[in-house]
Amino acid sequence: MENIDTINFDIPSNILDEIQINIQNIIESFDIPDDNKMEVIKKINFMYTQTKQMSITDPLTKLFNRRHFECEFDREFKRAKRYNNPLSIAVADIDFFKNVNDTYGHSCGDYVLREIAYIISNNFRQTDLIFRYGGEEFVIILTETSGENALIPLERLRKAVEDHCFQYNNQDLKITLSIGVSSNMKLATTSEIFDDADKALYKAKNNGRNQIGGDIIK
Ligand code: GH3
Ligand code: MG
Ligand code: MG
Repeated sequence: MENIDTINFDIPSNILDEIQINIQNIIESFDIPDDNKMEVIKKINFMYTQTKQMSITDPLTKLFNRRHFECEFDREFKRAKRYNNPLSIAVADIDFFKNVNDTYGHSCGDYVLREIAYIISNNFRQTDLIFRYGGEEFVIILTETSGENALIPLERLRKAVEDHCFQYNNQDLKITLSIGVSSNMKLATTSEIFDDADKALYKAKNNGRNQIGGDIIK
């Protein structure tokens, strides 16, 4: 049987809508008594919506997952290029996260991930998009935002995590984030701009962590 992780759910939304209409048509063609028909359609629609939501959500943090990131980033990048709008992308990585798991256990690590997801979610505009990209890495797409303007919420996030009181089993934990940012819309592809942000992240790590890296930083 195919592993669930290998199934590609990134079906364009217009096709998903078409599938939904088809489901409705199939149900209509079954010999279901009229009394029950609406109930069946409602149930299947509910299950369909749940599945669609699950396919783009990270179960631990409830943020959008990487699969959804690929889709959204492609669209936002194309939109910014077409209309000549600024766009910034930030990659945030928890510093020395392996130590948290090794010292306090995996459940504590999971608690930290959920807490950070919550802090990130409350730190950006509604029009920005937040994803759990991988293990302890988060990506933020700041739409219509230049590098200089991206630095304001990113620095606020860095500080919010540094100041946050993480408490697990009555123990206080100190957690910090390193962040890489790219706003270089001269780059031709999403991979190039993502790699640019990733390189900036590694600069931030090498410069001592708990900081933001990127060409915009003087
Ligand atoms: P650096 O400052 O260089 O980023 O160091 P690091 O320890 O954060 O980086 P490293 O890549 O060595 O370790 C990442 C750790 O993230 C290792 C892995 O156990 C942990 N991790 C990844 N996903 C999860 C998860 O879902 N839950 C928990 N608890 N830990 C996770
Ligand atoms: Mg990492
Ligand atoms: Mg890390």
